[in-house]
Amino acid sequence: MVIKKVRTRYAPSPTGFMHVGNLRTALYEYLIAKSMDGTFVLRIEDTDQERYVEGAVDVIYNTLKTAGITHDEGPDVGGDFGPYVQSERKDMYLPYAEQLIKDGKAYRCFCTKERLEKLAENSGFGGYDRHCRDLSEEEIEEKLKNNTPYVIRQKMPLEGKTTFKDAVFGEITVDNSELQDQILVKTDGYPTYNFANVIDDHTMGITHVVRGSEYLSSTPKYNLLYEAFGWEIPTYVHLPLIMGKNEDGSVSKLSKRHGSTGFEDLVEDGYLPEAIINYIALLGWCPKDNQEIFSMKELEESFFIEGISKSPAVFDYDKLLWFNAEYIKAMDEETFTAHAMPYYKEVFGDKEMDYSKLNEILRQRLEKFKDIPEKIKFFAELPEYDKELFVNKKSKTNLENAPVNLKEAYERLKALPEWTADAVHDCLINMAQEKELKNGTVMWPVRIAAAGQKVTPGGAIEILDILGRDESLKRLEIGLKKLG
Ligand code: GLU
Repeated sequence: MVIKKVRTRYAPSPTGFMHVGNLRTALYEYLIAKSMDGTFVLRIEDTDQERYVEGAVDVIYNTLKTAGITHDEGPDVGGDFGPYVQSERKDMYLPYAEQLIKDGKAYRCFCTKERLEKLAENSGFGGYDRHCRDLSEEEIEEKLKNNTPYVIRQKMPLEGKTTFKDAVFGEITVDNSELQDQILVKTDGYPTYNFANVIDDHTMGITHVVRGSEYLSSTPKYNLLYEAFGWEIPTYVHLPLIMGKNEDGSVSKLSKRHGSTGFEDLVEDGYLPEAIINYIALLGWCPKDNQEIFSMKELEESFFIEGISKSPAVFDYDKLLWFNAEYIKAMDEETFTAHAMPYYKEVFGDKEMDYSKLNEILRQRLEKFKDIPEKIKFFAELPEYDKELFVNKKSKTNLENAPVNLKEAYERLKALPEWTADAVHDCLINMAQEKELKNGTVMWPVRIAAAGQKVTPGGAIEILDILGRDESLKRLEIGLKKLG
């Protein structure tokens, strides 16, 4: 047996928006190809011109690029199986449909729109009653001679069952009698999606068809087409739905009310593309061990189809945030600075700053870069605050001891010959030791006076170090005054 080279395809319709479900499909197709040394193809499915949105193809390119999902073949990079845009392939479908007519697997349907509408109204079921399925040769000749418009429909078997195996959902069987004689080619000669995808997948040598589970019910019809042509059926990998958590704890299909659902929107919300990809990779796929953080390279090496789950995955924004924070923590200094700089500038303008010190205090707790201004704006300007902030049970501080200790700390700091993190540290720790106080009893009032808020990135020492001597002492004076 010849082992065919694995070829997968991502076949988005350009709708101007990349839902995380679509992105996951693209990612899994890419990973299936890469994990088996195969080829990943991008095909743009734009036959449904009514759904066409200007600039939508660019959204697809940009998303794939930002996400690090690189196609080996596609409209922009070419390949041996082009064209890769469905509308440019439009002339190749009709001959296949005509072949099916010849073989008795499809037929011309001359029914008018009015008749079909009436049918739908009267029968209550949207289906077609196969009116034209058994027209005589003469009737057909006659209509063709009169240029009566027609569509081409697939002739479904009326009896028996169709069974296929999905790599995720297992064996699926349907009664053929349930299958509609679906339209393959429209009156304008263009194929429907249901026909085009089969022709395209076959002629592009696709071995694994990966797509959302909403296509599961159509798959038997596609298989009947493969069989009618005598073509090898690809491996089907249908992916489970992505759900969102509702406020009442139930779940429903992920939509805007759960949060951002588009890749670009998530990036805009402050999630890093690498974190989104890592999270999405695990949204419906389970690695062999409990590893959670995966680079794209690691995913390419570890991905396997059997790890895909058929139960719906729930999109958890908190978990995504956790991934984001992990990616931020692991960033090298230069990348971190590049991400943080616009926000530093937003807070400090062009002021000279030692940004590496800010990097250090932020990195460990930062969930999103866009949170930076909120976290560090107290450095630029001491906020208004209430003296009650000096009271803290855990640090054993109250409105009696805070002024005393703050005053002492202030005097000692003021006397420091040099203002470095080490010097500030030793000064405050020594004071606590000499006075037999908890470190916190000294640090708390100093930090409150320096920052004017309870929650800060970094502790008293780091804050004083970043503020510098003059600003620090000024703020401690303000604190003392506040405490009377
Ligand atoms: N163009 C279809 C969509 O965007 C693709 C479905 C498939 O992968 O076959 O839903």
